[in-house]
Amino acid sequence: MKISFVSNPNPALLDESGMPYGPIRTNTFPQSQVTLVTTLPKGEYTIELLDARSIENPLEWQKKLTEQYALPINYGGKSLTRQFIGNPEESVSHSSRDVDVYVLSANFTYEANSVRKMIEILKKYNPKSKILVGGTDAAPPERHNFYFKSGADYIGLGDADLSLPQFLDDLRNRRTGAKYPNRLIPQKGQIHFVDLGRLNELANTNRFSESGGGSVLESVARKGFAAYIEMQRGCSRECHFCYAAKTPFNRLSVEDTKRQIDNYLANGVGLFMFTDDNTLLRNPRDLEEIFGYLRNRGAAWEFPNGLEFGLLGTDQTGKWSPKKELIDVLFWNNSNKKNYAGVHRLLFPLEDSILRRSSLTKLNRTSKDHALEEIIDRNIPYVNLGIMTSEPRETPNERRTMERWLSEFYGKTECNYTKFNYSLFCTMPLPGTEFGRQMHAEGRVRYNINEFPELWNIFLSVVDGKNFTAENNTQFRREILHKFGMNQDLGKVGT
Ligand code: SF4
Repeated sequence: MKISFVSNPNPALLDESGMPYGPIRTNTFPQSQVTLVTTLPKGEYTIELLDARSIENPLEWQKKLTEQYALPINYGGKSLTRQFIGNPEESVSHSSRDVDVYVLSANFTYEANSVRKMIEILKKYNPKSKILVGGTDAAPPERHNFYFKSGADYIGLGDADLSLPQFLDDLRNRRTGAKYPNRLIPQKGQIHFVDLGRLNELANTNRFSESGGGSVLESVARKGFAAYIEMQRGCSRECHFCYAAKTPFNRLSVEDTKRQIDNYLANGVGLFMFTDDNTLLRNPRDLEEIFGYLRNRGAAWEFPNGLEFGLLGTDQTGKWSPKKELIDVLFWNNSNKKNYAGVHRLLFPLEDSILRRSSLTKLNRTSKDHALEEIIDRNIPYVNLGIMTSEPRETPNERRTMERWLSEFYGKTECNYTKFNYSLFCTMPLPGTEFGRQMHAEGRVRYNINEFPELWNIFLSVVDGKNFTAENNTQFRREILHKFGMNQDLGKVGT
């Protein structure tokens, strides 16, 4: 049986001047595909990777734009066009015609129409094949109809490390009719060791040069490609906008994590990007051992999912005191940009805490100022401050407070070694999250997810608040970024 794991093209949502209203990340590591490939027993299936996403030079994506694949969207008087980067028909035409099963990962609502288009092309190219779609956008019940109507034969409901091999075995043995009557593959996952040697057989890994968080130092890029790595799933916190809220823990042991690091290095990785749901909810001694190991191996690493900075210290007596050993090892670096090793970038999730007293449990008993001071002292090349805007009850006063804080912080850090970036994101009412359910119940969602999935991305708001419309929210975000010289004209952070 031949299985093809598919990366769909990056859509581009552009205004009349060609300015992107969504992230452009063509050359990031295909983590879902690679993780799933390595769940299948070696030699039992013929495996392919159909990469309709990566392009030769990610900074020249404008040259690869296709015709519009759907009508422009009228967003508050602006006409936003929808195009793909790279021609998906052409990518498919270079692939095998005898594939039995295509596996697609729909992780971002923004890309839903891209997944739909891929299904349409693959069905035409290879009509007898079966199409499986998984990922965080496909899993919630509200989204099944969209993907079934798009032509998916089966939908996977979450982590599939164990359920995919089982499903393929059932398909091979003609047991799917009885076992999956509603065409849903139940979630069954288990974090596992990923052998990157298998990726090297299937893809040109040099293409995976991008970090979702922004530029990569030249000396780090020279070491090898940028790959996501996972050592822990699950989070006991309950942030209302997050898919990972209150999910069970599942960890690679320290020994297996070290083995994973060795495997990545042996297969050409130069930058490790940790995608754990919440890295710091692991025993600090484990973390000290793992990051000490990375340091000894001369590696560079990032925390793109955000670190719960309250866990970097304790304030039981009312006075914050840093966990020095942990901070030293997580943020160690050699300060030498010409031959860099150590922490390269981190996301520091301030969320809504600079607008108001946050109600998020992970933030309301902690000191961001102390944690930030520790970080400023560490000479980390890039720090992204994650800031949540467009909450429906946001007030003009809260916005003024936020602008004031950002101005002061900018003034303090403008000339620092560390390049701080304000990663403002519009809160999205995603299906499957508490925030999504609440916004729908209050009738605040302005743009339909099935008709306009491209608008469901962090550059834009689709929620009307009490004081600001969705379009006001988007405009405000753009103005702030412009004010501090953090424009995202190429759809990327800091370029
Ligand atoms: S702490 Fe992070 S991973 Fe956990 S629920 Fe909150 S946002 Fe999600």
